[in-house]
Parts: sequence; structure tokens; C-alpha cells
Amino acid sequence: MERKIIIGNWKMNPRTEEEAMDLVREIVNKYEERDEVEIGVAPPFVFLEGVSNVILKRNIRLGAQDVFWEDQGAYTGEVSVDELKSLGADFVIVGHSERRRLGETDKQVNKKVRQSLNSDFQVILCVGEPKGMRDKGVDVAKRFVSGELEKDLEKTKTALGRSPENLIIAYEPLWAISSEEGSEPATPEKAVEMISFIRKFLEVNEIAKAGETRVLYGGSVDSENAGEFLGRDEIDGALVGGASLEADEFVGIIESIE
Ligand code: PEP
Repeated sequence: MERKIIIGNWKMNPRTEEEAMDLVREIVNKYEERDEVEIGVAPPFVFLEGVSNVILKRNIRLGAQDVFWEDQGAYTGEVSVDELKSLGADFVIVGHSERRRLGETDKQVNKKVRQSLNSDFQVILCVGEPKGMRDKGVDVAKRFVSGELEKDLEKTKTALGRSPENLIIAYEPLWAISSEEGSEPATPEKAVEMISFIRKFLEVNEIAKAGETRVLYGGSVDSENAGEFLGRDEIDGALVGGASLEADEFVGIIESIE
């Protein structure tokens, strides 16, 4: 079995640096390092340094929840790849549905993906269809997802040719994200079907060769249901929101991997 990857997206949580450090300390203390699993956390920008100090020398990766597409300059409020790297981050989540809902466009997502890949910084690109699309049938959902991939991955072939492992896709159907009203997790079958479709899309469009890009599932994964998703060969790991804010839940997800 390939190594699975579990990433905790803390979103705009917790409230203080002390709480952020306590959370990651609890994870570090409870989790046993294992070769089969790669784990990472993506706290808010302001807690990156504190969290980085706690995970020093431990096998937990540190990531950010967003990044800007320029190197440096007069961009108030934005954060660059180099700034993130200087705090110990080695990956970034881009295109999360909560950012898209705030107005982030595919064009902006594409610029962020390109900037990251060109700077040798690993990107977790989130894609996924809203409920209204899924209700129209799986083919409509697939068209929506392939449309996102097409736009978000434009002009990335050269960078990916150099370092294909720098791209990870997270399939996160909006109707499965726990903060969405009326959400419910996808079934492992639905997740596998879309993830296989995403892999095929990457191959057919010569963005990635078979097996080069890891594809994760995200949407209401918790310690109870994680085994069903992570037990499937097609699913390379999970992007976890709500359940990553409780150390026992997050460690439970990691431990569900056999
Ligand atoms: C997410 O928002 O990336 C996510 C997967 O959230 P949750 O696990 O809470 O559904």
C-alpha cells in the first residue's frame, strides 16, 4: 500500500497562539510516527511560527491555508511563498471552497498554484462540486470538477514535469463539508468514482503520469468513518477540517490506517 497522507486544515481556529500550540502538542504526544502515514497541519498564518516550534524534529509537516502569487512587494495583507517557507511551512492549501465562496476565482487559484509550483512549494489544490451540481447527476458533477481542474492547472506542465510530487489534489464535494448546512460525508464509492475520474483527467491531459499525483478526499472525515475512506487504494489520504481541531479525533483518523 502507498503511504497515506492526512492533513488537518484548522481554518480560522483556534482563538489564541497558546491554544494552537496546546493542540499541536497534544497531537504530537498522542500520535505514534509510522512509515505508512504522512501527516501535516495547516494552522492560520499567525500561528505558523508557534506551531513550527512545537513540531520541531517531529515528523509532522507544516502548511498554510493560502498564499499570494507574487514574490514580494506592495500587496497589503498578502503572504508570499518565501515568507511561508521562512517559517518552516512546506505546503499550501489552495482553492478551498470557503475561499472560493469569498470570491476567489479560478484565475486567481491558477496564479497561486503556478507561483507555488514554480517556487518548488507543494500545493494541495481543492476541487469539488456544489450540491446543486451533484443533484443533477454524476456526469454534471464530473464536468464541474474537470472545468475547475482545467482552469486551475493551466500552464503548470513545465513545473510539474520537474517535480510532479508537488501537486496534490483534494476532492472536496461542497455538500460533504461539515460546515455546510445539511452536509453529509460522501460514500467511499462516490469519493472513489470522482477520484478515479480526476486521475484519468490528469493523465489524459498529460498533466501527470499514472500514480504521480496523490488525490485525497475531504468532507466530514472523522475517526469513525476514516477507515472506510482510507482503506480504499484509490484514496491517497484525507484533508480534514472540523475533526482536526480535536487531538483525539485527528489521531483516531491517523490510527484508522492499517
Ligand atoms: C474542509 O473544509 O477542508 C473539510 C474537509 O472540512 P470538514 O472535514 O470539517 O468537512
